[in-house]
Amino acid sequence: MKIGILALQGDFINHFKVLSQLGVDPILVKSPQDLAAIEGIVIPGGESTTISKLLVSSGVYDPLKERLDNGLAGFGTCAGMIILSRVILDGRSDQVALSSIDISVRRNGFGRQVASFETDIDVAGISGGSMRAAFIRAPVVEEVGSSVEILSDVSYRFPDSSTRKVPVICRERNILVCSFHPEIVGDDRLHRLFLDIC
Ligand code: GLN
Repeated sequence: MKIGILALQGDFINHFKVLSQLGVDPILVKSPQDLAAIEGIVIPGGESTTISKLLVSSGVYDPLKERLDNGLAGFGTCAGMIILSRVILDGRSDQVALSSIDISVRRNGFGRQVASFETDIDVAGISGGSMRAAFIRAPVVEEVGSSVEILSDVSYRFPDSSTRKVPVICRERNILVCSFHPEIVGDDRLHRLFLDIC
């Protein structure tokens, strides 16, 4: 299977390693031509404002949006989730989103770098026990549309002492997103789910 990994900024190398170990042939996507043969695309974590800017300057934004709108499978992790979402809260005013999944996300919604954390989550439809999830300046999903499935959520106590259940893995048709970094914990089950979607 030919799977693209958006390689403009962020942790694309670790996604490359996980997908290679799963026997796929990852293509690092840096320009519009790289989209031609792919059957799915991973958008990695990193800095969504930078990825957003580079998506536009590289000319990848328009053809990628068109392919995703036409059913290309997409897997966005952390900053990648932000980029694939419909609404970005606390983004930069010039930040673009691909609007591929009907969710609103707040950048850095769990707090700053020092508030990064790891926890174990259960994931609907994935067997084999809980999954370790690393949240690094992660986005908070604030709203989900009616056709979005929530595959996992965490109960989180915010600095104002309110505790809320926050969706951390969502899927809508061809699009899978998670607010953490599945590529760094040695657990490939979410990548396998994405390959099933592809
Ligand atoms: N806070 C980052 C952003 O807004 C995302 C962090 C990450 O991908 N680990 O882009």
